[in-house]
Amino acid sequence: MPYYYVNNNPTLNPGYHHEVHTEEHANELNILSKKYLGFYSNCFDAVDKAKETYSDADGCKTCCSLCHKG
Ligand SMILES: [Zn+2]
Repeated sequence: MPYYYVNNNPTLNPGYHHEVHTEEHANELNILSKKYLGFYSNCFDAVDKAKETYSDADGCKTCCSLCHKG
């Protein structure tokens, strides 16, 4: 079960929303500005948490493909 982060910068993905990533993938992408969401067993809970901050939050299509809506 991973730690999840949401990218504070929405301009770094094609859909221009705030993307949710696992810690591993966020590090891989070298995201400079991210908000810690917590430790979740699945990306759905992580995206719900991210939506408290960013209503347009969406799962990353690479690391949170089940929660990626585009
Ligand atoms: Zn990702």
